[in-house]
Amino acid sequence: MLRGVLMSERKPVAGSDVRRANRLLAALSARDFEVLEPHLELISLPRGQVLFEPGDEVDTTYFPCRRTMASLLIVTADGHEVEAATIGREGAVGGIVSEGHKPAFGRAVVQVGGEMLAIPTSHLEAAKTGSQRFGDLFSRYADALLAQMMQSVACNALHRVEERAARWLLAAHDRAGEALIHLTQESLAEMLGVQRTTVSTVTNDLAARGLIRNHRGRVEILDRKGLERAACECYGAVENHFHRLLPEVDV
Ligand SMILES: [Zn+2]
Repeated sequence: MLRGVLMSERKPVAGSDVRRANRLLAALSARDFEVLEPHLELISLPRGQVLFEPGDEVDTTYFPCRRTMASLLIVTADGHEVEAATIGREGAVGGIVSEGHKPAFGRAVVQVGGEMLAIPTSHLEAAKTGSQRFGDLFSRYADALLAQMMQSVACNALHRVEERAARWLLAAHDRAGEALIHLTQESLAEMLGVQRTTVSTVTNDLAARGLIRNHRGRVEILDRKGLERAACECYGAVENHFHRLLPEVDV
């Protein structure tokens, strides 16, 4: 697994379309965004890049752009891991509400490689303190993230791996903006906390039912409605709550 974001991978932010690439940033007022803009850097990260490990100081916050996705994973002492939250262009990874000392509890890793906007968390905190509207948006986002994690507790304990895989594919489909999702079986196994052979069985079954097509390193969504029927209730529950909390964030 890759570790550490190299400064040489960073490049300055250019163009207003960059802001629109992350829907949480796009929901900020122009004035609030102007406060952040000088401190944002556009970086390109590959799949597998670790953003932080448990215990690391979270000194950078990342805003996934376009189809880039990251996972917050809980890592056990024997090295097993399972996903607690999926974060794409609707959100942020890092210091969302905390202030001051911020050790990470879980591991954050890039699941679908691509661009992210990175900002020193100290600048984000200053901006939140300086604008009530800014702080409110991030507080509501933190609530949505907490809801997703709460739902994951139920999902991981109670729902079948087929349903959970379908849930994840729907969330990825929303963020990919196209039928083709860049996803390896290894990634899906990691997020679902199961063996890769189990994921193969599940994706082959979904393919046999005509819901998806498996490509090397990619999954193609063929039947969105069918996939929604195959997923557990968690997908809809999390999405509905997000839209109620953050109506101005267009996923
Ligand atoms: Zn579920």
